[in-house]
Amino acid sequence: METKILPAEAGKSLAARLIRAGEVVAFHTETVYGLGANAFSDEAVQKIYALKGRPADNPLIVHVHADYDIRTLIDGEPPYAAALRRAFLPGPLTMVYPSAGKVSKYVSCGLNTLAIRVPSSMAAQAFLRETDLPVAAPSANLSKHVSPVTAGHVFDDFNGKIPLILDGGACQGGIESTVLDCTGSIPQILREGLVTRTMIASVAGDCGVYRMKTGEKPRSPGMAYKHYSPRCETALCKTAEEALLLADAEKERGGVPVVLCESGVLPMLKGVQTLDLGDSGEEMARRLYALLRRGEREATLLIGIEPTESGGVMAGVMNRFRRAFGAQ
Ligand code: AMP
Ligand code: MG
Repeated sequence: METKILPAEAGKSLAARLIRAGEVVAFHTETVYGLGANAFSDEAVQKIYALKGRPADNPLIVHVHADYDIRTLIDGEPPYAAALRRAFLPGPLTMVYPSAGKVSKYVSCGLNTLAIRVPSSMAAQAFLRETDLPVAAPSANLSKHVSPVTAGHVFDDFNGKIPLILDGGACQGGIESTVLDCTGSIPQILREGLVTRTMIASVAGDCGVYRMKTGEKPRSPGMAYKHYSPRCETALCKTAEEALLLADAEKERGGVPVVLCESGVLPMLKGVQTLDLGDSGEEMARRLYALLRRGEREATLLIGIEPTESGGVMAGVMNRFRRAFGAQ
């Protein structure tokens, strides 16, 4: 199959036709690119799992346009969730509700909840309006690989396997949406992202963060899987000194070490190839995945130095950073 890459606006009507015909289409969002299919169709949704090699127990997020009445897909919502919707949607916040059981059972993998998101990207909105269906979409990468933040990244993973990629340029957010459980008496973050705990608490009054206990069945199955992995050897360290030792050893073996770190550490890394993450949380979120994909192309050993920034979106950035380098 030929994989077309079309500018999002020019390709939206073809994309909508393909979705209605049960095909899978990749599209731009403000977080990362998504791999979408008609959420009402068992067959179409199952194609997503097969294409990605995604475990059958890792549920999908349903994407809808800003005027879609999400109450038709869910079984009631607490007052704080309605307030959060008004405050943060469209935007990079996924809300988990009791499901009304209207979409394919393969979307939620047997959970009685449904995760819904209204992306703010103009490209995503235009495509979803044209389609006017709930579109189930995980990130458009092969399972376990680094999430895609350009149409080129999607092409690298799915060339010849999907008919269309809607190119909306580079994703400005850069990491996946915050996943928020809205089934309890207070909201609880299942996955950290660009909408932070402080932002949510300022509207909902309170906000918890779910931490999986050992041996427990995960509430958000995706968090239990290895994720975001560059396809080269990796090492995680805390200081420039440690990174330089590892880099020297790799050079002696005839390899190519590359160090990924925040801007402030660069002056201490003379004589070794580096990738600059930036110095604010937002910048690091925006650059992380593109740099991990560049790192896997250029390095035999990609060495990450843990960023020291904290607060705001850094909880989400640190989570992806550490997991990309094999830590939990
Ligand atoms: P991805 O779109 O690839 O970033 O993955 C979607 C994330 O949302 C995964 O971590 C899933 O486990 C999580 N998710 C999707 N649906 C649900 C749900 N109903 N309850 C809890 N987590 C969910
Ligand atoms: Mg993903």
